[in-house]
Amino acid sequence: PHTSSAEVMQMEHRYGAHNYHPLPVVFESAQGAKVWDPEGREYLDMLSAYSAVNQGHCHPRIAATLIEQCQKLTLSSRAFYNSVFGQFAKQITEMFGYDMVLPMNTGAEAVETSLKLARKWAYVKKGVPEDKAMILCVENNFHGRTLGIIRLKSLSRTNLTFLLLSMSTDPESRTGFGPYLEGVGPIFVDGNRERIIRYGVVEDLERALELHGKHVAAFLVEPIQGEAGIVVPESGYLARVHAACKKHDVLLICDEIQTGLCRTGKMLACEYDNVRPDVVLLGKALSGGMYPVSAVLADRDIMLCIKPGEHGSTYGGNPLGCAVAMTALKVLQDEKLAERAMSLGELFRSSVSALNSPLVQTVRGRGLLNAVVIDESKSMKGRTAWQLCLLLKSRGVLAKPTHVNIIRFAPPLVISEEDLLKGVKVIGQCLDDL
Ligand code: PLP
Repeated sequence: PHTSSAEVMQMEHRYGAHNYHPLPVVFESAQGAKVWDPEGREYLDMLSAYSAVNQGHCHPRIAATLIEQCQKLTLSSRAFYNSVFGQFAKQITEMFGYDMVLPMNTGAEAVETSLKLARKWAYVKKGVPEDKAMILCVENNFHGRTLGIIRLKSLSRTNLTFLLLSMSTDPESRTGFGPYLEGVGPIFVDGNRERIIRYGVVEDLERALELHGKHVAAFLVEPIQGEAGIVVPESGYLARVHAACKKHDVLLICDEIQTGLCRTGKMLACEYDNVRPDVVLLGKALSGGMYPVSAVLADRDIMLCIKPGEHGSTYGGNPLGCAVAMTALKVLQDEKLAERAMSLGELFRSSVSALNSPLVQTVRGRGLLNAVVIDESKSMKGRTAWQLCLLLKSRGVLAKPTHVNIIRFAPPLVISEEDLLKGVKVIGQCLDDL
């Protein structure tokens, strides 16, 4: 039976937990960069499920792999071998130039895995005294929603026990979920002061390492901050971060869950700085939006610190996910999606800038991971970026603010030039009407 958009939204609101605030549009089917709602209205997707559908919605090759594999074998658990995981492991490690992979399902799980791996490495290899290992990150990070990595609300200025507690610094994600994980976070003690490690400011990390380096297992960072509003650090930041980490025998973990897999115009965003992190985290587009697959990549001396029975997941490395991921990676290469993202991204930024709208404060990004910062004070009708997104939706373009006035535009990398320019035209019309 046909269910209308209104009915779908009512049902979700009534029976689904309210942990998201979706834009009022219902996806019923999708192909490439296009989406249709139950009434048959067509939309251009400019979010790509937070960069999970880089290869485009329902990519026929990935869908065919999914169907073929799910009729053969879907789950063995790692209690036994399955015929696909080994092949996937060979493909992904060769492709990214690491010795080994630890497969998980969601991005947050890959992040958690890397924290455990780094701690284990610190005790086993670096010689950090028991329970003293620290993992540093930066202000305004986003690495997921588990307890270990949710965002840190307010940084207590008085209570030193709050110094290094869980990763995040955003009130929404943290309030009401304490107590947080110890020894993980963006804060360090400098004399009798607490200091926060700012993103893009390598001196902050250098100081933290100078003071605490002996106990630091790893530094976790996004090469471009996604949820913080597509914050692109200065060229050379990551290279200097890597040098500081090396100097203090600290692992550099790059969270490429949103930036990786061609999104920013390179296979990995850390290639912009010619950095090879010690640990790379992938997720989202690793399956082209078809199935949750995430991965932790590292070399043997790090990865083998985790022994059988010490970490895992029932679905991690399952044959269905592995088969899907193998094809999803091939599609990225065969369709040259990094190159596409690079050139279409330049086109997007230059065309939005050419709109010359007084409401556009900044256009920034790399490849097809872009943000348009809206100066809401310039709206004649007192309207907001959220209202701009509603207007865009009513004219067939889907995007959502990452933060109050910052709208992310990250279409599937297979979007045609024509559709991208159509999208920009609609953005221009909506800005004029805001
Ligand atoms: N890391 C980064 C950089 C992300 O952008 C996200 C999701 O937005 C995650 C981790 C978490 O991934 P997941 O939602 O699959 O747990």
